Amino acid sequence: MSIDRQLAQVRATLPAGVELVAVSKTHPAEAIREAYEAGQRLFGESRPQELCAKYEALPRDIAWHMIGHLQTNKVRMIAPFVALIHSVDSARLAETIEREAARCGRVIDILLELHVADEASKTGWAWDELAAWLAADPFASMPHVRVRGLMGIATHTDDERIVRRDFETLRRRFEELRPRLGEAFDTLSMGMSDDYPVAVACGATMVRVGSLLFGARDYGTEK
Ligand SMILES: *Cc1c(COP(=O)(O)O)cnc(C)c1O
Repeated sequence: MSIDRQLAQVRATLPAGVELVAVSKTHPAEAIREAYEAGQRLFGESRPQELCAKYEALPRDIAWHMIGHLQTNKVRMIAPFVALIHSVDSARLAETIEREAARCGRVIDILLELHVADEASKTGWAWDELAAWLAADPFASMPHVRVRGLMGIATHTDDERIVRRDFETLRRRFEELRPRLGEAFDTLSMGMSDDYPVAVACGATMVRVGSLLFGARDYGTEK
């Protein structure tokens, strides 16, 4: 099915207030342009080089989201234009984003990635470490970083109960942090092609959908 048809179908399943990030990693600029023509403006990428190349090639009113693991030495490449970094998983990365944002005279929106899945391989903060770090009020000294919410990835399994458990954990932690992190803390990014309806049922405000919109990726070349 064409990208615009797929987009319309996914959008039709999302309640008002849930934002759709079209995950375009590994797909060519033409595919993004097709989604753009159908009205899509939020796109997610997971490699800084690819993100920069697409930013250069495509319309300037696209909001580019960095959703993949980000190395501190790559922050500078994307700092001038990135709209939201979903994958902030260390104090060092947050501090680097602060420095690079200050350098370009911007405030950069970020999400804190919380590890909830069973797989140890998945990235993100352990809750105890995140809570301990936040207790020291780190953002007081980061005027160029605005923490908008949490991001998470559920366990990769067909067992919907486990997926639901992971999303409910994310939702609970999100609610727990909200009073401390203020009004801007309003975004809960969870759910991908296989599990986004469960994520939405559990309170996602943003879903990251790739293969359902653009087709399968070539896993041979994917990071
Ligand atoms: C690739 C990716 C997605 C999209 O995955 P699909 O299964 O293609 O929808 C969402 N979130 C993150 C963090 C990703 O790396």
